[in-house]
Amino acid sequence: MAEKMCPSCHKALKLKESGYPMGSAFLKADRVHVDIYECPECHAIRLYSSDEGDMVTCPKCGTLHSAKEACAVCALNSAFDKANQ
Ligand SMILES: [Zn+2]
Ligand SMILES: [Zn+2]
Repeated sequence: MAEKMCPSCHKALKLKESGYPMGSAFLKADRVHVDIYECPECHAIRLYSSDEGDMVTCPKCGTLHSAKEACAVCALNSAFDKANQ
């Protein structure tokens, strides 16, 4: 597998969790399994689907996610934004 790179810092991302089940808390859809990566430089979290299927790139944050799902990163970001208000 090719190394994942932070689009901001161009550092190799570190894998934090592999095949992490997520979806039901934020998405009204079937669970997806994601690989969670963190940038060692800016600590940005990036998610990559570990499931097979059609993948699209989120126009907001650039995360690759399943075409059947909403963007999990944007869902998480909006949840954090609400928590910080
Ligand atoms: Zn970074
Ligand atoms: Zn997004």
